[in-house]
Amino acid sequence: MIETLLEEAGFHFVDAAEKADVVLVNTCAVRDHAEVRALGQISDLSRLKKKNPLLIIGILGCVAQARKQEILEEKPFVDLVVGPDGYRKLPQLLEERMISPPGSPGLLETELRRAELYDEIIPRHRGGVTAFVSVIRGCDKFCSFCVVPRTRGRERSRPLPSILHEVETLAAQGVKDVMLLGQNVDSYRWENKTFADCISAVADVQGLHRVRFMTSHPSDISENLLEVMGCQNRISPFLHLPVQAGSNRILERMNRPYTREHYLNIIASARKHVPDIALSTDIIVGFPSETDAEFQETLDLVQEVRYDTAFTFKYSSRPRTKAERMPDDVPEEVKVERLERLIELQKRISHERNLEQLGKTTDVLIENVAPKDSAMWFGRTPDYRPVVVAKGSDTVGDLVRVRLSELIGFTFRGERV
Ligand code: SAH
Ligand code: SF4
Repeated sequence: MIETLLEEAGFHFVDAAEKADVVLVNTCAVRDHAEVRALGQISDLSRLKKKNPLLIIGILGCVAQARKQEILEEKPFVDLVVGPDGYRKLPQLLEERMISPPGSPGLLETELRRAELYDEIIPRHRGGVTAFVSVIRGCDKFCSFCVVPRTRGRERSRPLPSILHEVETLAAQGVKDVMLLGQNVDSYRWENKTFADCISAVADVQGLHRVRFMTSHPSDISENLLEVMGCQNRISPFLHLPVQAGSNRILERMNRPYTREHYLNIIASARKHVPDIALSTDIIVGFPSETDAEFQETLDLVQEVRYDTAFTFKYSSRPRTKAERMPDDVPEEVKVERLERLIELQKRISHERNLEQLGKTTDVLIENVAPKDSAMWFGRTPDYRPVVVAKGSDTVGDLVRVRLSELIGFTFRGERV
C-alpha cells in the first residue's frame, strides 16, 4: 500500500539502499525484540546519510508511532517519523522535506485517525499466487501485554464492496490464494455483515482457489464462521486461534476474557465442523507471576489440542500497556527454559501431525519451482503444508491432485494421482 501511494506520486523503486534518495524503514513494535532490532537498523542508516547528506530517511510503522519524540531527539539524522495512520501524507511530507534546508528538524506525522482505512488504495501485487488483504484495522481488545491498540488505534472495518473490489483486481492479476488480515477478524462488522459473510463473499470471487484468514480471537469467533468453513471448500481448513496461556488466572491477568474450557470448546466445535482442520496458535511464556504449575497448564493444553504449528514468545514488557505495571518477575532464565520446553513439545506434536497426513490424497496449489530441484514444483495443501511434486504440463497457480507419500523434514513429497 505504501508502495502504491509512492508510485502514484512518481517515486521509483531501486534495489539497494545505497542507490536511493529516500530510505523508508517500516517497523513493528509488538515485541521488545522486534523494536530493538528496528532501532538498531535505524542507527545503522546514519552511515548512509554520512555518505549522502541529501538522503531522506523515514521511519514508518508502530515503532515510529510509539517512540516518535525519542527517535527525533536521539537520531537527528532521521527526516520523517510517520505512524500507521499517516501514510497518505507520505508523498507530501517527502516533497516538503526535499525542499527544506539540510539539518532542519525532522517532520512528524503520528496522529491516530479513527476513520483511516486506506480502503481505496490497492497494494502493489508483487506477483505470485498469494496476496494479503486487510479487512479490519486497529484493535479494541486491550490485552494487557499488547501495544497494538496504542500503536494502531481503534478498530475499523473496511466496507465489504471495497474488499471485494481489491480481491477481484488481484484475482484478475492471477492471484489464487488470498489471506484476509486483521488483528481480530471476528469483530468485523460492516452494515449488517459479519466476518462469516465477508469471507463467504470473498470465497465466491471468480478465479480464486483458496481463502484463508488471520487472526481470530477466542472471545469473538462465531460458530457461524466455523459452519461456513465446513461448507465452503475454497476456505482453507486452517484456523489460527491464539490461546496465549493455558491457565485461567493468567488469561484473566492478560485481559483475555475467555477460559481454557471455553477455548477447548471452540476447538472441539472447529473439529466438528471441519474434521481435517489444521490448528495454529500464539503462546506467551513467562507472563508476570506465571508459576511453574501455570506454565504446566499451557503445556497440557498444547498436548490436548495438538496444534499443527504454534508461534511461541517470551513475555516482554511493552510501554503504556497494563502489564507494564505488573512486576516482570519471571527470571529470564526461567522464561528461556519454559520457551525451550514448549518449543520441544510443539515440534514433536507438529511432526506427529505431519506423519498422520501421509497417504492422504489432496490438492496442492503450485506456488513456485522447488528451491532445491528445478524439475519439481513447490506448493501447499489446503491446510497449508508444504509439498514438492514432479513438474507436469501444469503451471504456477494450478491445482494438482497428489498423494502425500513421504515426509522430508517439514516438507512432503507428493505423487500425482
Ligand atoms: N491480534 C493477534 C496477534 C497480535 S500480536 C491476537 O490477538 O492474537 C502477535 C502475538 O505476539 C500475540 O498473539 C502474542 O502472542 C505476541 N505478543 C504480543 N505482545 C507481546 C509481549 N508483550 N510479549 C510477548 N509476546 C507478545
Ligand atoms: Fe493485541 Fe489482544 Fe488486540 Fe491481538 S487482540 S492485537 S493481542 S490487544
